[in-house]
Amino acid sequence: MDFEFDAQTNEMREMIGEFARNKLAGPGVFDPCEFRRRWRLAGEQGALGTVVPGEYGGLGKGAVTAAAIMEALGHGCTDTGFVFSLGAHVFACLTPIVEFGTEEQKRHWLPPLCSGERIAAHGITEPEAGSDTLSMRTRAERRGDVYVLNGEKSFTTNSPVADVFVVQAVTRPGGGCFGLTTFVVEAGTPGLTVGRRYEKVGLRGSPTADLRFDDCEVPASRTLGPEGGGFGIFRTSMAWERTCLFALYLGVMRRVLETSIAYAGERRQFGAAIGDFQAVSHRIVDMALRLEAARLMLYRAAWGLDRGSTDEVSPALAKLAVSEAAVRAGLDAVQIQGGLGILNGEAETALRDALPARIFSGTNEIQKNNIARALGLGGTTRPRSHPSRRGEKWK
Ligand SMILES: Cc1cc2nc3c(=O)[nH]c(=O)nc-3n(C[C@H](O)[C@H](O)[C@H](O)COP(=O)(O)OP(=O)(O)OC[C@H]3O[C@@H](n4cnc5c(N)ncnc54)[C@H](O)[C@@H]3O)c2cc1C
Repeated sequence: MDFEFDAQTNEMREMIGEFARNKLAGPGVFDPCEFRRRWRLAGEQGALGTVVPGEYGGLGKGAVTAAAIMEALGHGCTDTGFVFSLGAHVFACLTPIVEFGTEEQKRHWLPPLCSGERIAAHGITEPEAGSDTLSMRTRAERRGDVYVLNGEKSFTTNSPVADVFVVQAVTRPGGGCFGLTTFVVEAGTPGLTVGRRYEKVGLRGSPTADLRFDDCEVPASRTLGPEGGGFGIFRTSMAWERTCLFALYLGVMRRVLETSIAYAGERRQFGAAIGDFQAVSHRIVDMALRLEAARLMLYRAAWGLDRGSTDEVSPALAKLAVSEAAVRAGLDAVQIQGGLGILNGEAETALRDALPARIFSGTNEIQKNNIARALGLGGTTRPRSHPSRRGEKWK
């Protein structure tokens, strides 16, 4: 085991952290021109192509380095919504193209998506199909050289500004896991409409909207992977998202912890710094404890991805630990600052930005269902005894 980053990853973390602090600072509200300006800067810095091989314009790094870069972005950039948008682009849209695209598709799509020239969005969720993704209704029917898409997507991150959409649709109704196919659809394709931008409680710097497909013709050459392979692609991108994207919250938690320690040292009541009161100092210790535990789980999952692991439990555990710790860190930061904590500022923003993390990338309840199944519970898989009783590791 090695708990150190390599020298190059350390150098990149430093560089990206400084870049995020100096160049990505934003008010945390969405402005399309400002969003695109910062997006291009992030592209120039390499932050949009972390896991894309060099020949397609990326940095060619693995999951551990990609997570370290996301952590540095989350720490340095106070507009967590912007960093979330960037993570959704890289891990839900670019990784599927890297892993499942043909050579021609990679050469066509990846360079402008790495450079910051273009922005991608990923659509699987629908108004009637959230956690139950396989009940989706968006249909893709083959007619000669094209597929005709009809249906709706909801909660599509980046869609108000996206140039490219990675979309899941049903090609075989009733086909379950084998009934979905992934399409790459260009913005401006006739029949594709993007709805109004949502007003969200958190991650306000990240634009989100619905999509509508009305007889939208997509060339058959724009399918990603084989027909019927969509669910496998979705699972792969979720493993990356649940691991690397969530690293941004490690950075946010570290920033909030630093601010909380500083505040507890400065604010005086009853003739002493509030950090001298055990109730306050222990709260801060608990923040550090949850952050460190979540961080270890997340890098453990990233380490597995770099070794080609298909284990879905480690990313699910990482997602659970990081998102729950982030919500608690937001609540703790508010409490430590007393009345000031509920005024506009870092603490309340951290809390609002953390709340969606328990929902996107599969809700925390769904992660627990999946982990329970891996433990032999939940009914749909063969019952197994607890691995610890059999001296086995989880698979
Ligand atoms: C900020 C944000 C960004 C997002 N970005 C994207 C995106 O880019 N692309 C995309 O496709 N989607 C995106 N989503 C959508 C997200 O993936 C869904 O919101 C999520 O999967 C949950 O679906 P739902 O909202 O329909 O909730 P529902 O599935 O309706 O769930 C409601 C509640 O019921 C619980 N529940 C449901 N089924 C079960 C069960 N079997 N067992 C236990 N509890 C259950 C859930 O855990 C939840 O608490 C985003 C969401 C958010 C908040």
